[in-house]
Amino acid sequence: MAHALSGYDGQCAHIHGHSYILYVTVQGHPEADPASPKYGMVIDFTELKQTVRRLIIDRLDHALLLRHDAPLAGELQGVYEKIVQVPYQPTCENMVQDFAAILQAALPQQVSLHSIRLHETATSYAEWTAY
Ligand SMILES: [Zn+2]
Repeated sequence: MAHALSGYDGQCAHIHGHSYILYVTVQGHPEADPASPKYGMVIDFTELKQTVRRLIIDRLDHALLLRHDAPLAGELQGVYEKIVQVPYQPTCENMVQDFAAILQAALPQQVSLHSIRLHETATSYAEWTAY
């Protein structure tokens, strides 16, 4: 995904990309019913991966993420398909908060979000943790 930090006083003010790595951790109690096909699982990994893919990856993979008031954001949206405008500066810190809200609303009732870690590079990341 690409992004640009409008108004930032460094190199990240320019449009540039990252190979982001997203870690999502949930918590809950494993299914206790031996008759359930999900016996022993907090959540089926397939279901969790599908939820993350549908709500976050499909929307942002190979997209350009821009603050809604970034110069030319509206014009670019008319030219390229994957221009995503957000009401916040698209930093790792703000993205994990956004992702946390999205995933908390989508997880099954018996599962809660524990943490989200988003790596921008191998050594730079932001992490959201439930309290
Ligand atoms: Zn960046």
